[in-house]
Amino acid sequence: MNKEMFLKALDLLSDRIIDSKELLNDLDTQIGDSDHGSNMARGFSEAKKKIETVKDKDFSTILKTIAMTLISTIGGASGPLYGTAFLKASMAVKDRDVLQGEDFVKIYENVIGGIKQRGQAERGHKTMLDAIIPAYEAFKGSIENGEDLKMASDKATKAAKEGMEYTKGIKAIKGRASFLGDRSIGHVDPGATSSFIIINAINDVIREG
Ligand code: ADP
Ligand code: MG
Repeated sequence: MNKEMFLKALDLLSDRIIDSKELLNDLDTQIGDSDHGSNMARGFSEAKKKIETVKDKDFSTILKTIAMTLISTIGGASGPLYGTAFLKASMAVKDRDVLQGEDFVKIYENVIGGIKQRGQAERGHKTMLDAIIPAYEAFKGSIENGEDLKMASDKATKAAKEGMEYTKGIKAIKGRASFLGDRSIGHVDPGATSSFIIINAINDVIREG
């Protein structure tokens, strides 16, 4: 992935999140406080503006700018969590001007480590990690098998979708939805959905490239 594709991916994922505002709010209405879509749309609208001001800088600076924007504009749990994810991603791409499969493996590892540390959640707790961790495992397995970035990204996206759907059947252990206990079962997690949307947008750019 070169710089042009990188910027395209950031733009597309921001637009998809903004377009999914209602969907994400509706999901959060079922098991939370109805604001996940508004939170994310606010954060990524602002991020889009900030990206414009740093688009000539390196990958790491751009991702760090997004991180800071998300942290300062998103109220709610998802602000610091996605902020940490982008900050850790920025640390994974220092000195890179093209991203290969191995770089994305490192990005996934940093992102997952950061979210876990920040939110003290694990896979199976009905959070964004239930989309991101399966995506990472599918992606890494594919790269290790010698498959190319397109194939790995496609497999990651399918795994993210399955992980998102899987959250419907499980009970929330972390986040606001955990207050509902067993009543959180039967609803897809909003954060797992926003993570799938982001992974899917990146995949759409990789497929084109
Ligand atoms: P809030 O819950 O503060 O209203 P949002 O509605 O924006 O924040 O985000 C909710 C989403 O954040 C959840 O659907 C879940 O995926 C994610 N989330 C909440 N707590 C955690 C956590 N501790 N670790 C990882 N993800 C979490
Ligand atoms: Mg909420």
